[in-house]
Amino acid sequence: MTHIAPHPASAAISLEHRSLQTVWHPCTPMKQHETCPLIPIVRGKGVWLYDAAGNRYLDAISSWWVNLFGHGHPVINAAIRDQLEKIEHVMLAGFTHEPVIALSERLKQITPGSLGHCFYASDGASAIEIALKMSFHYWQLCGKNQKTGFVSLQNDYHGETLGALAVTDVAVFKDTYAPLLRPCAHVPTPDWRYAEPGESAENYALRAAAALECYLAEHHTQTAALILEPLVQGATGMGMYHPIYLQRARVLCDQYQVHLIADEIAVGFGRTGSLFACDQAGITPDILCLSKGLSGGYLPLSVAMTTDAIYQVFYDTDAAQAFLHSHSHTGNALACRAALASLDLLEQNHVIETNKAKAEYLTRRAAIIANHEKVNNFRHCGMIWAFEVDTHRQDFATQCFLIGLSQQLLIRPLGKTVYFMPPYVIGEAEMDLLVDGTLHVLDTLTV
Ligand SMILES: *Cc1c(COP(=O)(O)O)cnc(C)c1O
Repeated sequence: MTHIAPHPASAAISLEHRSLQTVWHPCTPMKQHETCPLIPIVRGKGVWLYDAAGNRYLDAISSWWVNLFGHGHPVINAAIRDQLEKIEHVMLAGFTHEPVIALSERLKQITPGSLGHCFYASDGASAIEIALKMSFHYWQLCGKNQKTGFVSLQNDYHGETLGALAVTDVAVFKDTYAPLLRPCAHVPTPDWRYAEPGESAENYALRAAAALECYLAEHHTQTAALILEPLVQGATGMGMYHPIYLQRARVLCDQYQVHLIADEIAVGFGRTGSLFACDQAGITPDILCLSKGLSGGYLPLSVAMTTDAIYQVFYDTDAAQAFLHSHSHTGNALACRAALASLDLLEQNHVIETNKAKAEYLTRRAAIIANHEKVNNFRHCGMIWAFEVDTHRQDFATQCFLIGLSQQLLIRPLGKTVYFMPPYVIGEAEMDLLVDGTLHVLDTLTV
């Protein structure tokens, strides 16, 4: 047997170097790190991330949109520690525990309408898989065997496992894997950037809804569900749209007996200015998918919530009629406690209200960005801001990220779209730094 010696003086070798030996990083052409630094983070506090060299970065994108209350929040930390002393994890088939029950009761209470049955998984894409399988299976059980198709919005993003990728419409993630994916229809996006000059957001959303109506009128007998990102289409560049589209979609889905699946993985828990984006349209989806901010961004946790009407069809002792889907970490107790603590913070600190004042402040301060000669379509919804930068640089996103770092900012543009999606604990001085740093980036890059 060969004895493997501990890594010689691993402290002397940089974390960056060690990471590149064995860690395959997500969403990254790995060779890029020959020229672009990889930043080892050693701790976080509030909106700040600290690297091994002692630099700090304002996490202006909430670490891929997951973080709600900043890093290292004492209340969430304490809840996880407390749970750790009781039970860290137990399988959820045949067993249950207080944190998963309490979280389900709480979610039932705060989500729209009659959503109340919570099916858990670990990441967002898995919640989407659950929603798609559940919808399909429901129609099979109802004898509507033709209803096997899905329709989503042009530019929608729903995750990158094969089922979720099939209903996603983002070429850069999807095209390579096209032969592996089941075909899915996409209807025109209600994103206001696609409107005719002078057309209001509302009128454009209604026009997009008319296209949805045409689609459903023709294909409803073969369609199980419409899946969409409510109000903000995140991954394709924070496309924002008028809530009337959701109202029309709800009416049409009812009319044509098609499930409405709302993917609030990115926008749930206050991001759009209301607790859930669907609240702004006053609608209840048939299935609601949540993840990212669900655990305050601390631990992988996701849920697909559904109505009694769907749940009852599966309610039987027969395995063939049951929803047999499972993930090993379904309903993880530590993650559920983090989620409960995060929901406490959301309620006790009146976050939806407090965020309104913060959003007003940042929007006011960012007027200077909105009026910048290289900036188009400055837009804002709740705690999300976005704009396009007029540049021919192919390396814009990378350069913007790098110059941002030099200004103590973590911003990571989507193509030529720069966006802010900060943790809710951001303060005024930090918003000032965000605006000033971004202006510096724009001036440096577009000269
Ligand atoms: C991030 C995201 C997902 C996928 O979640 P993962 O946890 O990354 O699998 C799905 N839908 C939307 C809208 C998202 O933003």
